[in-house]
Amino acid sequence: MSQICCKCGKSEEEEPIVDGFCLSCYKDEFPLISSFYEKQFNLTACKLCGDFMYHGRWAEVHDNPKEIVLEFLDKFLNKTKKETDAQVVIVGDFEEPSCDLASKQTLKIIFEGTPNDDVPPYQQEYDLTLMVNIGVCDRCAKFTRGYFETIVQIRSDRRPINEEEQLQITDLIQQKKDSRVGENRMAYIAKVVDQAKGGIDLYVGSDKFAKTITSFLSENLAASIEYSTKLKSMKDGKPIYQSTYCIRMPYFELGDVVNYLNNAFQIIGIKQGRVEIQNLKTRESKTLSIKDSHPDHVKVLKKKDQFQKYIVVAIQAPNVSIMNTASYETIDIDINMIFENHQDGDEILMVELPYGLFECKEI
Ligand SMILES: [Zn+2]
Ligand SMILES: [Zn+2]
Repeated sequence: MSQICCKCGKSEEEEPIVDGFCLSCYKDEFPLISSFYEKQFNLTACKLCGDFMYHGRWAEVHDNPKEIVLEFLDKFLNKTKKETDAQVVIVGDFEEPSCDLASKQTLKIIFEGTPNDDVPPYQQEYDLTLMVNIGVCDRCAKFTRGYFETIVQIRSDRRPINEEEQLQITDLIQQKKDSRVGENRMAYIAKVVDQAKGGIDLYVGSDKFAKTITSFLSENLAASIEYSTKLKSMKDGKPIYQSTYCIRMPYFELGDVVNYLNNAFQIIGIKQGRVEIQNLKTRESKTLSIKDSHPDHVKVLKKKDQFQKYIVVAIQAPNVSIMNTASYETIDIDINMIFENHQDGDEILMVELPYGLFECKEI
């Protein structure tokens, strides 16, 4: 005897019958999902930074907030109980949720699968309400309260920070801010206090980010790092410590005359924490490694403001007469102590070292 569908009465000849239902009625009788994980798909958007939260976890929005919504939706749907192998095949297009106003919209989600080996896979569309509430994320809340974890101080050794260095520091900080990775949401700088030439203080949201920015700055500025910590307060009987990193820029600056491996050099460049030096006797120049570009290895013999001005009076190889422009004293020195191609009357800069006078570049 031929079977018929118990719902619509279709016969076996018209459509296969499984468990008493034709395939069309089977779909309605056996939905692919019984209900969603939660009735509504609830998100919160931060009105200050535009990030989104789902179930207490904030995620950074980079370009498109819809990407984050889909990421969270994936988690939501993974928790939704599905019949056997049902899969999400399509999530219908939806509107980009606003971060200023709460919004509600319906997402169309199509599942595909089958609960029964005898029934070919079928698709079913479900409506899910996406509710976006507006709030303020933990980071922005801390940020607006001026919260910070660590202080990064930038100072220089026995001298003011010069203008060029000031600009360089600002630029380096910006670079690090731009490149900070999304995962560390507390990687922010709460406050920058510019103490004019005395230094710069950064109040940083996470100790990890403070560490990153400290090593980045010290490498680029040929600086040394000092770390200190002190008790800030007690919370629930536990001590809270305040960490401070001090980035100390070296005493030496561009243009200074320094001792390196027992030879006198002038610093003719400082780039990415590497010092470029020129030998005052041989005029050979070289760039030191980051490790060697450190005050432990490069020691100031004369600061550039201690150089003296002279005028070339007469060139008579192997000697040259030069006159000090302040004292009018004229002396004869070895012609090799000054650069080539000078003419009578040229003004030159000389540095006085225990073993003689050497011409330096004006930098
Ligand atoms: Zn039927
Ligand atoms: Zn925020």
